[in-house]
Order: sequence, then C-alpha cells, then structure tokens
Amino acid sequence: MRFNTRLLHDAQPPDELTGAVNVPIYLSSTFAQSAPNRHKGYVYSRSANPTRTVLERSLAALEGGATGLAFASGLGALTTLLEHFPTGTRIVADQDLYGGTWRLFEHHRRTFGIVIDYVDATQIEATGAELRRSPAAMFYVESPTNPLLRLVDLKAAARAAHRAKALLVVDNTFASPAIQRPLELGADVVLHSTTKYLGGHSDVIGGALIAREAALGERLAWLQNAVGAVPSPVDSFLVLRGLHTLGIRMQAHSESARAVCEVLEASSAVSAVHFPGSSHHPQRALARRQMALPGGMVSADLTGGGRAARRLLRGLHLFTLAESLGGVESLVDHPASMTHASVPRREREAHGVTDGLVRFSCGIEDPADLADEVRTALRGV
Ligand SMILES: *Cc1c(COP(=O)(O)O)cnc(C)c1O
Repeated sequence: MRFNTRLLHDAQPPDELTGAVNVPIYLSSTFAQSAPNRHKGYVYSRSANPTRTVLERSLAALEGGATGLAFASGLGALTTLLEHFPTGTRIVADQDLYGGTWRLFEHHRRTFGIVIDYVDATQIEATGAELRRSPAAMFYVESPTNPLLRLVDLKAAARAAHRAKALLVVDNTFASPAIQRPLELGADVVLHSTTKYLGGHSDVIGGALIAREAALGERLAWLQNAVGAVPSPVDSFLVLRGLHTLGIRMQAHSESARAVCEVLEASSAVSAVHFPGSSHHPQRALARRQMALPGGMVSADLTGGGRAARRLLRGLHLFTLAESLGGVESLVDHPASMTHASVPRREREAHGVTDGLVRFSCGIEDPADLADEVRTALRGV
C-alpha cells in the first residue's frame, strides 16, 4: 500500500468490541485484573493505554520502525532518550538544532556529565572524523534544520555514525514521514515533536520516538514507563486524528511554502531565502534525493536586519506571530527573540540566526493569499 493509504489503515483496525472506526479515547488510569497479574494486556496507563497503543503502532508503521513510542512532548521524548546513556557518554550533535534541544543537551552536559561535541553535519567528512576521534554513543541531527532549512545527508550520516559505532538519531519533525523516512536511510531512531506536522492542528503537545530495531525499542519502552513522560489518551487521539490527513496536508504546506519562497526571492528587501524546494538552495540535489516534497517551512534574512524584521511582522495577519509550526494555519516566528532566544547571541549568529531572520510556517490557506500578503508586507519594510 502507498503512504497516503497507510496513514488511514496501518495499525488502525476498527475497534474489536464495538466496531468503532476510530479507536475510542480510553480515559482510564487502570485496568481490572481477573486474578493477580491476569489481565488483557493493559495494567496501568503510564505503562500502556489502548488509545496510545494504536498511535504508537501507527507511528512505527509509518516511519518503518519496529517500535513506536508516544510522549507528552518532543522534549519529553528527548529526555527519555537521554536517560538511555550513562554518565560520561559522548554525544556528537549537529550545531544547527531546535533551541530547546540545545538547552536540554547543555543541561545534561553541565549536570549529568554527558560530553556533547557539536559539528557542522553538512560537512560529512569532517563530521565522520569527529565521530571517530573518541568513542561516541549517539550522533544527533535534524534535517531539514530549524530555522535555516539546511539538510543533512542522512544516508551518509548513518554510515559515518555506524563506522564510529554510534547510533544515528534523526529529529524528523520538519519533514514528517510523508516526506522523508530516516530509518529507511539507515538511522536507528527517529524523534518527533508530534506537536508540529503529525498533530497538525496546533491543538496538542506531543512527542515520539521510533526505533528501527526491536531490541533498542524495548529498552526505550522500558524507559518510557520508568520516566513516565507519556501523553494522555485525549492527546494520543488528537495526534492519531492529525495523522490521517498528513499526506494531503504536507502537499498543501509544500505548495504554500513554494509560493511564499517565490515572493521572498523576488524581493530586494530580502538578502537570503532558505527553502529546500528552491532552485537556489545549495543542497537542492540532496533535497530531491532524500525528500519527497520540500515541506512547509521557509526562512528569510532581511537586508534591513532586526528593524526590518519587526516591520515585516507587523504587516502580516494571515501569518500569526507565534512559536511553533506545522499547523494548518500559517505562523511566523522571529527566531532570534523567540524560538532561539535561549541560544547565546554569539553562538546563534555564528550559525546564521541573525536578528533579520524570519521563519514562516506556511499553512494550508490558499497559497495565492499567503503570497499576496507577504508581497504587500515586504513593500512596507
Ligand atoms: C518543537 C520541536 C521540538 C520540541 O518539541 P516539543 O513538542 O515542543 O517538546 C524538537 N525538535 C524540533 C525540530 C521542534 O520543532
């Protein structure tokens, strides 16, 4: 079956008891046992909940992994993953990271004695050398990256990680499995903030880990229960409901983003546009190889810096100024003062997150309306 069919049918049979075509929201913290330890597979909802199970099986099937695990947030998923590694573990991570991921890595470095070395993962030769310099347990990347939409060659990254005996973990939040499936390219674990495209409607906070191999999946499932950062049955249902339309949403998001990118590229107020679908993107060949669609995220650097960025933001109304991304409605973000404010200025600017950078999460409104609004707002910059 093809992906858009699997979104609706993989691991989601009608409810056995009632025939309900959607899994019921099982709002129960605990489950009756007929005798001590005799039960129907469910004991306590931190360990497993039937609504969450359907979501988890669906996530595993869509990413092509042995095990899917749902969490209360993307960072809850990352916290649980980090619990896998003992004190002194060395992690190599791409320098271009979601701000909250960077903050959590730094916390683990300072507090729990984890060693974190940052690399430019677009430079895969140098990255491979850094991975082999001293033993590393994990190589952690996002692709496309946030907010600069740089791509990491995931096949090459998996080879580099495995040569160094490290796990490759890919944050697939920006692409979603409708666009890119890292486990098929050799990654060991995929992480999601399901808050974004998988949920897709800006109404739930959630996260996920999907492991390619069952052995690692079991270990992470053990940690999921031990740490306890699980989503509620209602939240699990909302993410599942979002998944059903993921395919057509990603197509619409990609069309919107392409329209916005064209307007930005045509404007003299803009010095650089970052979009994997652009013919000017330095990694457009890799984008075509690795991604089925360019996705809905575009960022642009304004020639006039922070003041121009603020003026542009004031001219946007269909794009709501807000953190987050991946919902059906368009959002716009000023990374330097919002999503990436926790990264020190020097570090931020060294990686290209300047005061003039604006990040667009292009929704599924009519692309022409989004393009018109950005064109008009740019005239006022
Ligand atoms: C939002 C986000 C996260 C964190 O997820 P939460 O659900 O907010 O905890 C991690 N990675 C990326 C790329 C994100 O966009």
